[in-house]
Amino acid sequence: MQDPVALVTGANRGIGREVSRQLAQHSYTILLTARSLPKAEAAAQELGGSNLIPAQLDVTNPASIAALHDRVQHEFKRLDVLINNAAIHYDTWQRAVNADLDVVQEALETNVYGPWRLCQTFLPLLRQSLHPRIVNVSSGGGALNGMGGGTPAYSISKAALNALTLMLAAELRGEKILVNAVCPGWVATDMGGWGGFFRDGQPIPW
Ligand code: NAP
Repeated sequence: MQDPVALVTGANRGIGREVSRQLAQHSYTILLTARSLPKAEAAAQELGGSNLIPAQLDVTNPASIAALHDRVQHEFKRLDVLINNAAIHYDTWQRAVNADLDVVQEALETNVYGPWRLCQTFLPLLRQSLHPRIVNVSSGGGALNGMGGGTPAYSISKAALNALTLMLAAELRGEKILVNAVCPGWVATDMGGWGGFFRDGQPIPW
C-alpha cells in the first residue's frame, strides 16, 4: 500500500500547518501549500518531515490551482484527501447593515469559490483514490441555526461553504467520495487570536 496523499490549503501557519504536521506523523504524504512558495518551504522545513512537500497555491488563482493539479497528476496520479482550510476575513469590525461588500466578495472568493474550484479541479484525481475524502474547514459561524448579526462576510461565506459541502456530499456519495465540513472551535491562531470575551459567538467588550 502506498502512503495516502493529502493536500492542505493555507498550510504555512495556523490550523493548516498543524493539520499538516499531524497527518505527516500518521504517514501521509502532505502537499503543504501556501500562496507564497517561500512560506510553504519554510513551514515544511521547520516541521521537518521528508513527507512534507511544499507547493505554491493561491486558492483564488485558477492558474495556480491548475498548475498544482498538473504536478500532483504527474507525481502521484491520485489524491486521497483534500483539505480546504485557507480562509480570510473574520470581520468582527462590521455588520450586515453596513458591510463593505468588497470585503464580502473577497471572503467569498477565498472561502467559497476557492474550495469549490479545488474540488472541481481535483475530482478526477480523487476518483483515482481507494478512499477519497474532502474536508472543508468551516465554522460554527456559518450555521444558520442560531445565526445572529455580525461577522457578515465570514459567516455568509461559511454558510455557503456548508451548503456546498452538503451538495457535494450528496452528488459524490454514489462514488464513495466522503465530503464533510468541520468546525475546529476557537483556536489560538492569527485568525482566532489568543483570548477574547464572547456572547453568542460574537466578541464583546471586556
Ligand atoms: P489563519 O491563521 O488566519 O491562517 C489562514 C491561512 O489561510 C494562512 O495560511 C493564509 O495564508 C491562508 N490563505 C489566505 N488566503 C489564501 C489564499 N487566497 N490562497 C491560499 N491560502 C490562503 O487561520 P486559521 O485560524 O488557521 O483558520 C484555518 C481555518 O479554520 C479557516 O477556514 C477558518 O475559517 C477556520 N476556523 C478557525 C477558527 C479559529 O478559531 N482559528 C475557528 C473556526 C474556524 P497567508 O499566510 O499567505 O495569509
